[in-house]
Amino acid sequence: MTAPCLNPSYIGRFAPTPSGHLHFGSLVAALASYLDARSVGGRWLLRMEDLDPPREMPGAQTAILQALERYGFEWDGTLIRQSERHEAYAQVVDKLFSQGLAYACTCSRKQLEGYNGIYPGFCRNAGHPMENAAIRLRVPELHYAFTDRVQGRYGQHVGREVGDFIIRRRDGLYAYQLAVVLDDGAQGVTDIVRGADLLDSTPRQLYLQELLGLSQPRYLHVPLIVQPDGHKLGKSYRSPPLTPEQATPLLLRALRALGQPTDDSLAHASPREVLDWGVAHWDAGLIPRALTLQEAQLR
Ligand code: GLU
Ligand code: ZN
Repeated sequence: MTAPCLNPSYIGRFAPTPSGHLHFGSLVAALASYLDARSVGGRWLLRMEDLDPPREMPGAQTAILQALERYGFEWDGTLIRQSERHEAYAQVVDKLFSQGLAYACTCSRKQLEGYNGIYPGFCRNAGHPMENAAIRLRVPELHYAFTDRVQGRYGQHVGREVGDFIIRRRDGLYAYQLAVVLDDGAQGVTDIVRGADLLDSTPRQLYLQELLGLSQPRYLHVPLIVQPDGHKLGKSYRSPPLTPEQATPLLLRALRALGQPTDDSLAHASPREVLDWGVAHWDAGLIPRALTLQEAQLR
């Protein structure tokens, strides 16, 4: 399962979380990362972000893989699961802790109320042991910014706007921010194409990349598909799973959501043919520069 001419200077990926089925919003993100990779002959990897077993929906992993296959997506190499990477995460957490770049936090949820999610630093210099505590990364009083290929310049002052953030939870589960940076680094990902809900995670990820000596990938954040009430798809009954019968019309709708041209002749094409057409006509410059798009307006 490889693209016709492999371009080693582009490695992209799709990284679904198995907390539920794929829905139209995830299809838009998968399609954008796939087309962006394949249009330059790049590799496209698949990673299952199963970091949080209590929030995993039974059967979701299989359903996601099946939906991707039925929608014509072919990924390169073997599927990576974050649940199989705990050793690598633990090593980095231990190292950051022993270097004093991270510290143990024993604050209760109650103690942290009223700070707008920005950690007030109570445990910064407490010297708690690692056991039975959350591990927080000490962030610098600096602004981290990057230029997104669609959204333009974006940055945050991580000290003031984010604060020391958790890399390992008190219950021992690893945080998304840590795992995603380590995995993208380990897999040599050069291009991250994903939903705009993760734009404001990126500065934290830039700081982690810098700390760990990883190179910074290019970023492209596509509009998040939302319901008329502004909620993300997948958060309610209103986002049905992707059924095989709907593959061609939903792929066409996803192409339109990404601002790409479509053609009437594609109405009866197979999913694979729609993807091939999308690869041939892909122009990332046409993606709407918006953080959200209403699903209802795309029908
Ligand atoms: N697992 C994340 C999600 O499903 C995506 C992570 C990423 O693309 O960086 O929203
Ligand atoms: Zn604390």
